Amino acid sequence: MREPLIMTPGPTEVAEEVRQAMAQNFTNPDLDPQFFKFYAELCGDLQKILNTKSQVLVLSGEGMLALDSALASLIEPGDRVLALSNGIFGNGLAGMAENYGAEVIKLEKSYSEPVTGREVEEILEQEKEIDLATVVHCETPAGLINPIEEILPALNERGIITVVDAVSSLGGIEIKPDDWGADVVLGGSQKVLSAPPGLAFLSLSPSAWEKIEKRKASQPAFYLNLKLWQDWQEKQEFPYTPSVSDIYALKKAAERLLAEEDRYQRHARIAGAVRKALQAGGLILYPDFGYSDTVTAVRMPDGINFSDLNREMLEKHGVMIAGAFAELSGKVFRIGHMGENCREEKLYLTLKALQHSLVKLGFNFQQDILKIYVNELNS
Ligand SMILES: *Cc1c(COP(=O)(O)O)cnc(C)c1O
Repeated sequence: MREPLIMTPGPTEVAEEVRQAMAQNFTNPDLDPQFFKFYAELCGDLQKILNTKSQVLVLSGEGMLALDSALASLIEPGDRVLALSNGIFGNGLAGMAENYGAEVIKLEKSYSEPVTGREVEEILEQEKEIDLATVVHCETPAGLINPIEEILPALNERGIITVVDAVSSLGGIEIKPDDWGADVVLGGSQKVLSAPPGLAFLSLSPSAWEKIEKRKASQPAFYLNLKLWQDWQEKQEFPYTPSVSDIYALKKAAERLLAEEDRYQRHARIAGAVRKALQAGGLILYPDFGYSDTVTAVRMPDGINFSDLNREMLEKHGVMIAGAFAELSGKVFRIGHMGENCREEKLYLTLKALQHSLVKLGFNFQQDILKIYVNELNS
């Protein structure tokens, strides 16, 4: 069986040397001083990718563990949480905050429009005494970027702890957490870093640690409780046995990403060419503006459904793209161009397969999207 080209917005394709890193022999990570050093070096690499001086932790669990553990650790019952809810993940974070007993105030908006700094200012004029805010940088299902450079300072100025889900943008789109006032930034191994799924990581600012330390309410969680990680380095002790193989892979993936100085330009250039080609061909992107450089969401053309498109792409052309879920199910298809997927030739093959497949399903392209894509890359 031919292996498909995985062009989904995470999990992404994993480079050979990252896969090889996983095959290294094991150690006992709770007892081996070399492993503590290795883990600390990985945290240092991730600090560079996150572009922060804050402490970074790598947790053994899928990307969602970053979201869940941050909220479980930071929220005390009765805390007032502002959730920017203009997408599936934004709305999901609001639900998680409710699970932990927060009084949640939602800033709701269409899933096709970014939240602006102005709107955040306005809601903060009405809603006083907010303890914490949740912000999604890249709303992956909608291919949309919220302008966190204007949103975070508005929150930070008022002493609100900010939790930023940058799982699908981190490493592909530049962020400045320390300048903008992001207290907690969340990431996952299987997006831009292009390591296998299985690890979550996050940064915690001194203010975030302070909120965790000052907690008065009891903490029913164990695995999700970040407080257990507070002094792992001094004590040389992990709260639970880390996933050694996944950590080997993530370290190699982080090194690969850091070795590439123009990674942000690569994402911007290729994403720009993909968008230009799709639009010139007559397709309509999902967001009204605020397009992500890591994933493109396209409105399903009238009369064509995703399962037919997917079957054609996967079975005839060996290219795997994604649909969407929840409220966007059936409404969009998505092409991931993050990390290892963000290569000129991979997007060429993807667009070629897409053009063939959509023509077969009855879509009339206004122009040859491959020509536009190549022209755009060369311009
Ligand atoms: C991928 C992703 C996550 C992690 O969730 P998955 O279970 O890996 O889908 C969290 N937030 C965002 C914005 C993501 O794109």
